[in-house]
Amino acid sequence: MREARELLDVPTQGRESTRKRLVIEVMVKSDRQSQLSRRTGLSQALVSTTVQDLAKDGIVEIDAPGGGRSRGKVRLSRMRGVAVGVDLGFNHISVAARPVDQPHDRIAVRRQSPGANIGFRRLLPDVLRLIGEAVEETGQGMADVVSAGLSVPRMVDPRTGKFTTPVLPPWEPEDQPAAELAAELGVPVVMDNDANLGALAEQTYTSEEAVEHVVYVKASTGVGIGIVVGSNLVRGRRGMAGEIGHLTVDPNGEMCLCGGRGCLDTLVGAESLLAKVKQSQRGGARDVPTTLSALVLKARDGDAVCTRVLNDAGRVLGFALAQLCNLINPHRIVIGGELAEARSMVLDTCRQELARFALSGAIAPAADFELRASTLSPYAEAQGALILGLRCRSSR
Ligand SMILES: [Zn+2]
Repeated sequence: MREARELLDVPTQGRESTRKRLVIEVMVKSDRQSQLSRRTGLSQALVSTTVQDLAKDGIVEIDAPGGGRSRGKVRLSRMRGVAVGVDLGFNHISVAARPVDQPHDRIAVRRQSPGANIGFRRLLPDVLRLIGEAVEETGQGMADVVSAGLSVPRMVDPRTGKFTTPVLPPWEPEDQPAAELAAELGVPVVMDNDANLGALAEQTYTSEEAVEHVVYVKASTGVGIGIVVGSNLVRGRRGMAGEIGHLTVDPNGEMCLCGGRGCLDTLVGAESLLAKVKQSQRGGARDVPTTLSALVLKARDGDAVCTRVLNDAGRVLGFALAQLCNLINPHRIVIGGELAEARSMVLDTCRQELARFALSGAIAPAADFELRASTLSPYAEAQGALILGLRCRSSR
């Protein structure tokens, strides 16, 4: 069987670079040629001749024209090779591994606690073990891993691929998780912010069109958003774009980890939501949840306080997102992270506040705006990391 590594290891220059770029994009997602053209920025004519070339060499196959959703789609021929995506959260590690010739929902996944809160060095052996388990589940081995991407809950400077300073806890300025993982895996590893990668995965895997404007909200320990406009991820000059968690929503509010005051994080971050539940139950003998997941579970079981806290979180989030709708008019806002597990308890109030504060034309008609929970959760970020890892091979 052909090895994906042979295709990805060719030098990136001239005609080969176009072939490599397209092969990688087909590994990311099999698609129609028009969509491949939009995703790569290559002209339709160039995509067409290159795809025919690749088909002649047995590298890709083109689904027969005719009826059905897969009509005219370009697929990768059978070959060995596994792409890996790793998501390091504050309280979890998630890993997704997928044979490059399989569709995006055929991933092997692993997830466990704790996460980055205990420090990256102590986490690395667990990360490697989980990757090993997931890769083994695909029926291939660690020697077949051809790419890897890493998602982190911090800002990443797009020019250097390292943490943007100042580096907030629990990370240290000298931490270089991508480089350490690359040394262990023997493939280049690129790193990006978790919300950015959630947005990338949602836009790639759940949008029909390659140019939809998608905002992904990662709401867990803190809140961050990833913004994809057209086919571009908006990172900003220093990777600070989308830090909505530090948008001031109460000028006289509490101090935040970032040094600001009244940030969205101080109202809807996990710590704040847990503190609100604790406050209402002070002096009582009832169990108080200590994690956001536990809080959501309690609300689902009908606990009135936990339900109200989540309703309120949806309201504040909706207020902040309404400003965003007026600024960039997204086609879709996808809520991910642990808060998304609360579903309608957060989404309903969020929707109400969008209706109160956003321009009506920015959130209607229904065909042009959607607010929903992530369907890739809890692996959206790991899936995005997997995409990023593959794409970085087109320049290395
Ligand atoms: Zn802040």
